[in-house]
Amino acid sequence: MRTTTGWQVDGATGELRRTPLERRDLRPDDLAVRVDYCGVCHTDLHAVRGHDGAAGGPLVPGHEFTGVVTGTGSAVTRFSVGDPVAVGNIVDSCGDCPMCRAGQENFCHTFPTLTYGGTDRHDGSTTLGGYSREYVVREGFAYALPAGLDPAAAAPLLCAGVTVWEPLRSLDVGPGTRVAVAGLGGLGHLAVKFAVALGAETSVISRSADKADDARRLGAQGLVVSTDPDHVAAARDRFDVVIDTVSAPHDLAPYLRMVAMDGTLSLVGHLGSVSVEAMDLLVGRKKLSSAGSGGRPATAAMLAFCAEHAITADIELLASAQVNEALTRLGRTDVRYRFVLDMSDLDTGPAAR
Ligand code: NAP
Ligand code: ZN
Repeated sequence: MRTTTGWQVDGATGELRRTPLERRDLRPDDLAVRVDYCGVCHTDLHAVRGHDGAAGGPLVPGHEFTGVVTGTGSAVTRFSVGDPVAVGNIVDSCGDCPMCRAGQENFCHTFPTLTYGGTDRHDGSTTLGGYSREYVVREGFAYALPAGLDPAAAAPLLCAGVTVWEPLRSLDVGPGTRVAVAGLGGLGHLAVKFAVALGAETSVISRSADKADDARRLGAQGLVVSTDPDHVAAARDRFDVVIDTVSAPHDLAPYLRMVAMDGTLSLVGHLGSVSVEAMDLLVGRKKLSSAGSGGRPATAAMLAFCAEHAITADIELLASAQVNEALTRLGRTDVRYRFVLDMSDLDTGPAAR
């Protein structure tokens, strides 16, 4: 075992505390990665808030990070020590089922191994995430970080980015498509950047007009205020694709009303049970869909697209010791548009116990 340091949820207080962590010795196809930057996803907040320390085992969040390879297993072929890499929210899958064979490891029939809170396929341990200074990952689930992408601002591409990339691509968004992105947060602002770069006519659906200037700066042509019935009525049947990234349970009806005939509402935000009136789908033959994370080919394609179009997240970089502040602020949507933790402060301060 190798010892590193990370931020683990304290079951009693719900705060994250700096803790020594064990990482496995490298298997033949493993990389050791020094984690430099890790994005703070709203899923981390859901996990921390909903975490039952006793039943749920240790929780170290973090599933979108970039860093540098510091060690390679004996059978590693694609990476060398010193290579910049990126890791997202999946670190293993069966490799054998129809989904894995189709390059959709995110839908693996045996469920993909998640970067944190997952169960390792070999030793049964609970995976501990990227809010730490080192991670050990199978090389097949690490991605070369393209040169030219800032490693801090690129980290959120690995969860927030690919989560909105897959539905945009599978729904054939491009020139001539009218896209709206509901919820301008971490996922949402990247969805806007992608849709604009793909050539779509892009709008934002937000709870207020506060982010109208940002929406325009990101390339959107307009902003629909979802809490204003006049705005919602005026946007009736207007968008071929609505990517819904809203982080709280919400009524889908107003968003479905804005979907055009034969268009699609893709729900990628808060995941839970939803209730839909069939009539809201019937009128206009509308479709309701969802997506989550990305397969390996799509993730690599997304990174290549970002390199080509110089797309990274708009971030606020914080020292990792500010992780609790980041989560609190994220809970009140006080971020434009992604917190990224700089893990280098874990090299100093209290030594690993
Ligand atoms: P985020 O940065 O907090 O953004 C969420 C946005 O939702 C906010 O900026 C806000 O936009 C809007 N919003 C928040 N509360 C709302 C409410 N009560 N009603 C309406 N709108 C509200 O979060 P994120 O990191 O982008 O994540 C968004 C959601 O996606 C989370 O639930 C996360 O767990 C989920 N997620 C899913 C996947 C997947 O695999 N499908 C992957 C990653 C994340 P406005 O201020 O513009 O209204
Ligand atoms: Zn995430």
